[in-house]
Amino acid sequence: MINNNTKIVATMGPACLSKDTLTEMIKAGVNVCRLNFSHADHKTHLETIRLIKEINQELNVHTAILADLQGPKIRIGNIAEGSILKDNTEFVITTKECDGDGSKAHINYQQFPKDVKVGEKILINDGKLQIEVVDTNKKDTVVSKVIHGGELSSNKGVNLPNTAISQPCLTTKDLKDLEFILTQPIEWIGLSFVRSAQDILELKRHIEKENHNARVIAKIEKPQAIKNLNSIIDVTDAVMIARGDLGVEIPMQKVPVIQKKIAKQCLEKAKPVIVATQMLESMTESVTPTRAEVNDVANSVMDGADAVMLSGETSVGAFPLQAVETMSKIITNVEQEFSSTRSYELKETHGDRFISDAICYHSCKLAEQVSAKAIITMTHSGYNAIEISSHRPPCKIYAFTNNHAILNTLSLVWGVTGFYYDNETGTDETVADTKRILKGIGLLKKDDLVLNVASMPIKEKGMTNMMRLSYLK
Ligand code: PEP
Repeated sequence: MINNNTKIVATMGPACLSKDTLTEMIKAGVNVCRLNFSHADHKTHLETIRLIKEINQELNVHTAILADLQGPKIRIGNIAEGSILKDNTEFVITTKECDGDGSKAHINYQQFPKDVKVGEKILINDGKLQIEVVDTNKKDTVVSKVIHGGELSSNKGVNLPNTAISQPCLTTKDLKDLEFILTQPIEWIGLSFVRSAQDILELKRHIEKENHNARVIAKIEKPQAIKNLNSIIDVTDAVMIARGDLGVEIPMQKVPVIQKKIAKQCLEKAKPVIVATQMLESMTESVTPTRAEVNDVANSVMDGADAVMLSGETSVGAFPLQAVETMSKIITNVEQEFSSTRSYELKETHGDRFISDAICYHSCKLAEQVSAKAIITMTHSGYNAIEISSHRPPCKIYAFTNNHAILNTLSLVWGVTGFYYDNETGTDETVADTKRILKGIGLLKKDDLVLNVASMPIKEKGMTNMMRLSYLK
């Protein structure tokens, strides 16, 4: 099994849903399986969940599941084959059902004529086509002028980078999907087109109401989310830099620097961050990636990503296993030859989590000073493992927990490997036990120096307040 620090998220789809292929992909380094609710029905997702759980049991691994909600994705309707949008011509968009062509199209967003203003840009098909609002009757019809035309086909996505969209972040479809998701053993839920912290809090309310343990990933793909980044990162559990839509909603040349800024902010706030989309895009059809793609994956690892993501490469691509193997190899190489971006800062010097945070921070500093082989944490909520990970210590993080729910959750987090452990008799016994277990499976050996981090008394499962440095016998 691959043991990189930077994790891999793979999107599920017809290309990888045979048991043999998915098993090999997990062995090759997939840590999180992403179910994209923009595609596939609940029956298919249910079967995928069952398959992942079966493979987890057989391989004794903790692959997490990420359910990715579609969010307010706007699309045009049916368009006659061979339709072309010509520069400087008029193009009408209407909420009334119609068959579209080079002069008109239906849009699936009822509020569209009320939300847009004259002069605003409308982007179609990943920004390949650009039109501008000329007039709106504020009811059902918008007249636009074609700025950059081209071929137009059915069901293409629409982005409104300048428009204040009144539609809620959770659509009727999302609420139906969420109802299904919250009956399933799913660790992470992705929220698309997040605009503010309120969007995240709204999703969290639904999750809490169902007493579910799922944590939330804010997908950053709107200019409004960039503006509200700080408050979004504060309330979310993790972040995805969704470069596909982000590179349409803002000029794409701005994405690389924004990626670095988001990754840095997430590290500082101890929120796991995923870099997503087109990482090995050419591997959808080719068995080798482009050199630029290899650089993109490597640079994302160097930016401090917790995870890098594969989309079409694994869901519909011709080489899903090879895409995972390629990504794993790139990560392994970067991690061997480049020391990761560290944030050795103690974030708070007071407050509820001060003692925990101080212990986590100093365990990383000490691990570096004494070249420890591992930091071993006892955790119930996963908090100390995520906090330690955010300092990117130069050693492995082994998280022991009796909380089944967070074992898979931690699979997304940089450098963390989870173990189930429920024999918490006392601190001395537990520390000795964890070391014995890790030596038994060959992850540590005699004379290795390790740090144990836990809360004392161990049975109370309180906040982290203890750190111990010792050799393995
Ligand atoms: C993206 O836009 O980069 C993204 C990950 O979103 P989705 O694939 O859900 O459209």
